[in-house]
Amino acid sequence: MITEEEARSQIAQAIQPLPARRILLSDALDYFAAGDYFARLPLPNFDNSAMDGYAVVASSGRTGERLRVIGEQPAGPDRQLRISPGEAVRIFTGAPMPAGADAVIMQEDVIRDRDEIVLNVDAEPGEFIRKVGCDLSEGQKILSAGEKIRAATLALLASQGFSDLRVGAEVEAAIISTGDELVKPGEKLEPGQVYESNSALLQALLKCCGAIVKSAEHSRDDRESLIEAIKRGLKNHVLIITGGVSVGEHDLVQSALRSFGAKIDIWRVAIKPGKPFLFGRAGESAVFGLPGNPVSAFVTFLQFVRPAILRMMGAADLDLPGAPAKLIADLKNHSDRPHYVRGKLEGGKFTPVGRQESHALFGLSQSNALLRVAVGESLKAGEIVNLQLWD
Ligand code: AMP
Ligand code: MG
Repeated sequence: MITEEEARSQIAQAIQPLPARRILLSDALDYFAAGDYFARLPLPNFDNSAMDGYAVVASSGRTGERLRVIGEQPAGPDRQLRISPGEAVRIFTGAPMPAGADAVIMQEDVIRDRDEIVLNVDAEPGEFIRKVGCDLSEGQKILSAGEKIRAATLALLASQGFSDLRVGAEVEAAIISTGDELVKPGEKLEPGQVYESNSALLQALLKCCGAIVKSAEHSRDDRESLIEAIKRGLKNHVLIITGGVSVGEHDLVQSALRSFGAKIDIWRVAIKPGKPFLFGRAGESAVFGLPGNPVSAFVTFLQFVRPAILRMMGAADLDLPGAPAKLIADLKNHSDRPHYVRGKLEGGKFTPVGRQESHALFGLSQSNALLRVAVGESLKAGEIVNLQLWD
């Protein structure tokens, strides 16, 4: 049995980012940037008005002053207007500042009188002007390699004239659930049978981390069927098999994988729940064997499969988002493995929920965060702890 850290580093060594490609900006949401990007233009890229109003020379813009309106500058082509003290230009939000003007007076603060205005306020130099480069300088880094492309990132890239960009690859994944006791939801349940729920869980978790689920099929605990299912699953970057990875007589996954010449790098990790976790490689695929118990499958997916998929997609940050919280109950880890306690983070407080057992799906469904409690660690109610958020 190896530690989580050893497992993570072995997986990271075995898995490389997939080749990057160029896509349209309009398709790039939630991908990871495949390189650093730098500003081609300052923002704003010219001095412009922040208001609808009048561009003036501040030194001649005292309250009660009468200024002659010598032209109009809407947002759009620069009319190359120029003003002197005693003059004003009718101007609109986003319009380029006329030469000589150093302030804008809001239209609400003047009285218009034919081709003149009378000021109700004093003009302040620089007022209501968006100065070139005040937001962003040319050459400044706007996106780092491995950063996730979000809505605002797309807007920033568009503002710089980018119409496409290089991003990390899409990861295609297959799921195989195993077990003779399992029945597809919607079908009739006979005594001794349970509904198959890991496929639903894993499909959702895969989608949450941006992978594409190509197939989800079920195999009986039968070597031939499992081998057939694995053959189909290995056409993907990632194959996830749930159940059948412990040491029971019906746990056929390892031997079935070996018949494909798979290299099993990891089997059994010191983690609770999830000890029987398996990782190997067969052909071009990374293969993850997750324990059948739903909570074990959930925890091992988040701790080992998610970071591997993100790495393939070119992400820089492989960790789940974290958050500090005040612990509501005492917790002690008496086991020989780090324990991932399921609980609910609400209003800055973390409460463990449900039965902390690997089959206890209801408790898991009520939780939104994990707390890792190290071996022998004893936490007291009121302590501030660091959570992993997954919801
Ligand atoms: P296994 O890892 O195959 O020994 O299964 C451990 C436990 O998880 C057993 O109680 C199984 O019935 C249950 N289990 C395995 N696979 C699934 C699944 N896909 N959906 C729901 N429960 C499962
Ligand atoms: Mg089984």
